[in-house]
Amino acid sequence: MLGIIDWFKRRAAADGPFPEEWRLILREHVPFYEGMGDELRERFEEKLKVFARTKEFVGAGGLELDETMKVVISAAAARLVANIPGEHYERLTEIVVYPSHYRHPGDDDKVVFGEAHTFGTVVLSWDAVRAGFSNERDGHNTAMHELAHVLDIEDGRFDGTPELHRFAAYAPWANVMSEAYLGLRAAKRKQVLRSYGATNEAEFFAVATEAFFEKPKQLRTRSPELYALLVEYYMTDPAAELDARHGGAR
Ligand SMILES: [Zn+2]
Repeated sequence: MLGIIDWFKRRAAADGPFPEEWRLILREHVPFYEGMGDELRERFEEKLKVFARTKEFVGAGGLELDETMKVVISAAAARLVANIPGEHYERLTEIVVYPSHYRHPGDDDKVVFGEAHTFGTVVLSWDAVRAGFSNERDGHNTAMHELAHVLDIEDGRFDGTPELHRFAAYAPWANVMSEAYLGLRAAKRKQVLRSYGATNEAEFFAVATEAFFEKPKQLRTRSPELYALLVEYYMTDPAAELDARHGGAR
């Protein structure tokens, strides 16, 4: 639920046209932007604008944060929820950006997710964010991965199940997700999903999200049930978008 202050902040952020210089940044750094149809692009820009203007972006480890970083990171956030009505990332207030990989007091990644849960902070390395966008077909996108974690914890639990759109969706979600997760854990050969997804259910959801947006056709072919579940959650069908873009919707 949005508080009244947040609501005014959000409304102010949504005001005015989308900045033309942000479009230049997107064309240069975010490959999927050009391929978006008009309607999707409009929703995407709207979400991006609000995200970029309502979250606090903080440079760390000597990084001077610039407009490009802010827009590119916001693009990952907007891509995930472009088609989902309503507000997202409400618990998230701050995005901390390091120049390259960082060490956190505590040591690994997990500490950072713990923070994401408690303080509404996401920590990213700009190098990793950039690498994620430079290849949009390898199923690896750090910014989308971390933001999928934020969607996951919106319901207060970091368990690989975000808040679903209808109650009846939870049972099929649990069935399909756990089967796919156990399948990835047991897999001997290379899969569409990165093996990191076998770490736990939360990582599975984040890794599946990366593959859903970056390798949608492979995922649709290899794991049709998992793919269909993510289509329902994200309310978008990236494989069909690709089919349409390349002519012929087979
Ligand atoms: Zn993760």
